[in-house]
Amino acid sequence: MNDPMNDNAAHPLKLFNSLTRQMEEFVPVHPGEARVYTCGPTVYNYQHIGNMRAYVFADLLGRTLSWKGYKLTHIINITDVGHLTSDADVGDDKMEKAAAQSGKSAWDIAKYYTDAYWKDIERLNIRQPAKWAIATDHVEEMIAFAKSIADKHCYELDSGLYFDVSTVPDYGRLAGAQSDDIEGRIDAVEGKRHPQDFAIWRKTPAGETRQMEWDSPWGKGAPGWHLECSQMSNKYLGEKFDIHTGGIDHREIHHPNEIAQNQAHNCSEHSGANIWMHNNFLIDRAGKMSKSSGDFLRLQVLIDRGIHPLAYRLMCLQAHYRSELEFTWENLEAASLRLKRLVMAVRRISPDTKIMSELRENTTENGQLSNQMISQIRSIAGFEMSSLIGKFDEAISDDLNTPIALTVLDQAIKDRNLSKRDRVRLVALFDSVLGLDLLRITRRKLRVSKTVDGLENFSISDADVEAVVRTRRLLKSRGDYTLADELKALLSLWGVELMDGDKLQWDWRIEI
Ligand code: AMP
Ligand code: ZN
Repeated sequence: MNDPMNDNAAHPLKLFNSLTRQMEEFVPVHPGEARVYTCGPTVYNYQHIGNMRAYVFADLLGRTLSWKGYKLTHIINITDVGHLTSDADVGDDKMEKAAAQSGKSAWDIAKYYTDAYWKDIERLNIRQPAKWAIATDHVEEMIAFAKSIADKHCYELDSGLYFDVSTVPDYGRLAGAQSDDIEGRIDAVEGKRHPQDFAIWRKTPAGETRQMEWDSPWGKGAPGWHLECSQMSNKYLGEKFDIHTGGIDHREIHHPNEIAQNQAHNCSEHSGANIWMHNNFLIDRAGKMSKSSGDFLRLQVLIDRGIHPLAYRLMCLQAHYRSELEFTWENLEAASLRLKRLVMAVRRISPDTKIMSELRENTTENGQLSNQMISQIRSIAGFEMSSLIGKFDEAISDDLNTPIALTVLDQAIKDRNLSKRDRVRLVALFDSVLGLDLLRITRRKLRVSKTVDGLENFSISDADVEAVVRTRRLLKSRGDYTLADELKALLSLWGVELMDGDKLQWDWRIEI
């Protein structure tokens, strides 16, 4: 592990803890390690781009912990059972409902949308967690977890086993406030002792059969959504781990309920995780983030409009994760332009010399620089480089302040006091946290049309296309529009779409 106090990444890592509502210095439970659990997707549909903000944030946190030298264990769960159409205890299971509507099995639906989600994770250059914890693989262990707390903390109703929130200290302290608004969202289930009590096991109603159901001491049924995360975080990270993340909506019901179960299971007042972190929402005033709107905004919609997924990642990083971020196409186009500029600037300072191959060789598929390389660059840094690394570290250590960290990246690229070689080294270093894939992404890759898949199979070289484009420009300047149009048609045959008037004069892109 790097000694944070002894190198140019010397700023203590401070994170905002939703539980205490304040910034706290990160002190790991196990020295040198960081154990993080992230609430993952409910796979009854595609994830919208708002959901993906939650994983960009969790990835940024993981990369930051790696940058600070901690050995990271990151778990993300896949909820393929148990999440009802309401966050409280009413409504149908989202999976069963999607199955009934589509005529497919709940298992097929889960598989299809899990694969789609993993594809989006890759497209956003989000690092693979240590494990994808899939809820339906853990049901027996969830039953054991529930059994261990049933006597002291739960009571049975016709509809299932319920957790009595009055049996744990300080229930709901994570939530903003136990306001009427929140209680109003928790619909009454007949027989509940308190409105906030929640189901940890939901029985299949008499006379019905569910596609996903298991035997339990409380009858056939399925685990409650909150139970999943308590059991899986406990199994993989221990009773007391470092950080639990999710979107800000989880602060109100899901996470308070997880905490209550953790306290009951661990026979402790401790919430399970030392720090609870929540990303704010991506909002869309046009209402396209609602999955009920049919053509809701998902990553593929952006790609179909010719926007590279990493432009969306950059858009997220341009805002602090705790700020609300408004989605507009203009914001996204601006991020896309900034990404193109960054890529062009990095190319300018990185003629394909030894240093580039050395950096690439020491980079994983996610564009993550090896720890060894990070330490090596930090150790050879002179005054100017060290001071930029220090600034970057200061920003990122300040509750992941990416808007500032990005400006330090800009400064590093432009810093004429540094050799190009050192500037590229800094880009590699900073990008191991930002994850924009700046060392490998090419102009060609950013010229996305319908899909990014298959770009590798495109066999016409950039130089060929550029030569035809140049000739066409010449023809147009001479007024020979007929021939110019023929060249345009030829390019189209090659799958190259011309974009006259592109701001950066990247006036062609590949159509797939
Ligand atoms: P779900 O699939 O509904 O369980 O949500 C997956 C993740 O996305 C959770 O961490 C949510 O809190 C988060 N989330 C949902 N909507 C948004 C949004 N508009 N912006 C940011 N995060 C969101
Ligand atoms: Zn969860």
